[in-house]
Amino acid sequence: MPTIAFLGLGSMGGPIARNLARGGFTVRAWNRSAEKFADYPELTRTTSPADACRGAQFAVSMLADDSAVNAVTFGADGILAGLEPGALHIGMSTVSVACTARLVQAHLEKGRDYLAAPVFGRPDAARNKMLYIVPGGLKEVQERAAPLFAAIGQGTFPMETAPQASVAKLAGNFMIAATIESLGEALTLAEKSGIDPQRLIDMLTGTLFGSPLVKSYGQRMVKGEYVPPGFTIRLGLKDVNLALAAAASVGVPMPIAELAQDRMETAIERGRGDIDFAGFMTVIREEAGLGA
Ligand code: NAP
Repeated sequence: MPTIAFLGLGSMGGPIARNLARGGFTVRAWNRSAEKFADYPELTRTTSPADACRGAQFAVSMLADDSAVNAVTFGADGILAGLEPGALHIGMSTVSVACTARLVQAHLEKGRDYLAAPVFGRPDAARNKMLYIVPGGLKEVQERAAPLFAAIGQGTFPMETAPQASVAKLAGNFMIAATIESLGEALTLAEKSGIDPQRLIDMLTGTLFGSPLVKSYGQRMVKGEYVPPGFTIRLGLKDVNLALAAAASVGVPMPIAELAQDRMETAIERGRGDIDFAGFMTVIREEAGLGA
């Protein structure tokens, strides 16, 4: 079985790395904060991203954002410095289209391939190997990565290029933000009209809106359960900002994204950046004169 360098043991990266190790791969892991290793005894601990890459056929990164990916890839002891010739870097983080294009180019200049592979699914999906993966890159490169994806996910939705995979992921996260906004408005309307919010969610999910997203976020919103977060408002805002930047670069107005952006910025100003993404519903409630 191939050896994988795994960079980033956060809420998503940790369970993904564990499933790769359980799938029979040797996983050489690195994380900025050492304490994360305590939860993952099945991983081989390394001292830097370059050290993790030694002898590995794949490097998989699952980091917070553009600046984390840039630091871990382009830093002095980064992936670019350590990755062996012929090895493949698979980037699973949700990052900007520009960041993805830079990664493709940098690996190309070193004679290597880069595959963008952002994911849908929260930490519980990562734990249960239920992620949906959106790989973007050359077909033969996607085929090389297929055994890894089989060990961590339930399906892939390929795109032709790495930047397209980034756009597709950002489009999906925009849809999540738009769903939270519309559900938040609908639930607030129901509550102020005297309808039990749970009754409204049961009606919506039992009729025309039975998507996994409406079911899971709907329950969180009805119960007001935003801690612990699966995905924070801070990271959600990052993705809506990235979607708006991608849209601006191709001349597409996205007013709903701008509205969600405004809600999230307000939630963060009110000290709620680290609660669950669905928690920007609290701002909608406050505007309607209800408590957060
Ligand atoms: P997280 O729990 O906050 O973990 C972030 C990881 O990035 C940690 O390993 C962190 O290291 C590392 N990191 C942050 N800044 C760094 C820097 N400057 N240098 C080196 N490492 C740095 O985030 P997550 O929820 O796992 O999300 C990871 C990525 O997956 C994000 O792009 C997110 O948008 C995407 N995603 C998340 C979800 C979700 O539901 N959570 C779903 C789909 C996609 P430390 O441990 O040292 O802080």
